Amino acid sequence: MTRILDGKALAARLRARLADEIAALRARTGIVPGLRVLLVGEHPASLVYVRTKERAAREVGIDGRVERLPVELPEASLLERVSALNADPTVHGILVQLPLPPHIDPARVLTAIDPAKDVDGFHPLNAGRLAQLSSPPPADLLVPCTPRGCLLLLEEALGGLEALRGKRALVLGRSTVVGRPMAALLLAHDCTVTIAHSRTRELAHECRRAEILVAAAGRPELVRGDWLAPDAVVIDVGINRVPTAEGGSRLVGDVAFDEALGRVAAITPVPGGVGPMTVACLLENTLRACRARLAVEGRG
Ligand code: NAD
Repeated sequence: MTRILDGKALAARLRARLADEIAALRARTGIVPGLRVLLVGEHPASLVYVRTKERAAREVGIDGRVERLPVELPEASLLERVSALNADPTVHGILVQLPLPPHIDPARVLTAIDPAKDVDGFHPLNAGRLAQLSSPPPADLLVPCTPRGCLLLLEEALGGLEALRGKRALVLGRSTVVGRPMAALLLAHDCTVTIAHSRTRELAHECRRAEILVAAAGRPELVRGDWLAPDAVVIDVGINRVPTAEGGSRLVGDVAFDEALGRVAAITPVPGGVGPMTVACLLENTLRACRARLAVEGRG
């Protein structure tokens, strides 16, 4: 029997806990965590993502606001805006929605964000701290939201993070957004980690060895059922739109879900698996950044 890991339900529980904690923080200190999401241009998927983040933030009591900036905004002006938000004491989290227009260097912008407000966890300082961990992340470290969401799904599947110790984990994908930070997190939780990517040979063989598989390649149903070890726990990060026979389209993951059912111990569905956890973990990071700030000010 394969357990289907319900990311929607787990994310709802996390958001409810965060709402309680934010209400308690506000009652005790009068502080409302503040999140600013900067969107440059009109990228249609990005527009949906930033609205989702803003709504989710408000629902848990975070002062979440999207700032929409024109597509032709010069890089220097975006850097100035980031700098102003860095200095604003009512803002605890800053997120610059990617992708940026081609005339803006994302690395320069992400590096300009105050690492203490870097709720996406993409600043090189935060990425570097994560890469150096050999034990679970400290409370003040802002970890990228999608890998953090995957870790919480693994915790749910395994009944605790201690169960990760010594497990063979395969991370499919080496992006800085998902694959690399995911591998670092699993390593910090004592997994034996392999990272596979587009140049990996014998991918099916690598997959079959994995007790934990996190698939983030962005290739529809790349991983077939017979590539999976019986009793593996599978976290499918991929979001791929594919055409249907009826002329419409549907979302599928990087793993052939129907083939995996009945074979593996647990798997996340697409949609309804990792996606909702990513948004919930952004809210968690915003509260984490706010608490760290209060601790620095001696008001924690
Ligand atoms: P990316 O394109 O930056 O990276 C993909 C990685 O997969 C690369 O490292 C590449 O080497 C590897 N890869 C590609 N084809 C491969 C193949 N055939 N065999 C082995 N490896 C292969 O993508 P990303 O930003 O890391 O995102 C990956 C997927 O996760 C996408 O489908 C994306 O939409 C999805 N995603 C979902 C969430 C969420 O919240 N659910 C968040 C971020 C990304």
